[in-house]
Amino acid sequence: MSDKPLSTINHDRDSAALRYVYPVVSRRSGGVSVGINLNTNNACNWRCIYCQVPDLKRGTAPTIDLAVLEIELHGFLNELLHGDFMRSRVPEGLQRINDIALSGNGEPTSAGEFVQVIALIARVRNELALPAAVKTVLITNGSLLYRNSVQQGLRDMAKLNGEVWFKLDRASEAGMQLVNDIHMSMGKVRDNLIAAIACCPTWLQTCWFALDGAPPSRQDEDDYLEFVGALLRDGHQPQGVLLYSLARPSMQAEAPRLSALPTEHLQAFADRICKFGLAVKVTP
Ligand code: SF4
Repeated sequence: MSDKPLSTINHDRDSAALRYVYPVVSRRSGGVSVGINLNTNNACNWRCIYCQVPDLKRGTAPTIDLAVLEIELHGFLNELLHGDFMRSRVPEGLQRINDIALSGNGEPTSAGEFVQVIALIARVRNELALPAAVKTVLITNGSLLYRNSVQQGLRDMAKLNGEVWFKLDRASEAGMQLVNDIHMSMGKVRDNLIAAIACCPTWLQTCWFALDGAPPSRQDEDDYLEFVGALLRDGHQPQGVLLYSLARPSMQAEAPRLSALPTEHLQAFADRICKFGLAVKVTP
């Protein structure tokens, strides 16, 4: 295990020298997020142009060695709770476990063992008597939410103080093609999102940035607001929106064309979303 101190800019997935589990000091949550990377092969079914995964390739998660994952998660949480890691590696003021986060180098729900992974997290939480306040977060592009097994995993997560962060960067087919490099109808996105909301508390996570110096257009904003407005009118209530810009450099070929937006720009869009009565958390 490296003894480098962790900071909010040190997101090195190898920093705990484990296969699946890695710690992140999260600027969003103000504490330690215990990440689980199921996509150790850097494979995702999308290719977002801002994606920070190096050597990203199209595909799904490999077969998960559940025994190794369970040993790693149990061991690392135990170290956080009872060992020296917090004091020696985590900056003061952030020395708390905020969440266990299924996130990583690809789409976590593409793992065939997704349901078993949630059951494993439940077991480990229980064995270590992890405080109920520690969340279980799934960071997902939402594209596989139509699968019964994924929905079951989300229902199980809901019992573990679960939270889904469902990616919605643009709300038009052309916008998703441009930003996420994926062909997907907005009807399909809507169905997947409704399924997520029905299974587990769900936040929208939206990355808003400039491309070739131009921020998203007014039409992009209107498409987004129309999509969210229709969802709410039909009685599907997400928890809110996590609106952020580029925190770390893209590892995709488009990287030189991308730039972060000023906070005021994000806030102006957030103000439009807030008119629906939705909570919006802005992270520049
Ligand atoms: S969904 Fe996530 S992991 Fe997949 S390409 Fe987009 S940002 Fe990268």
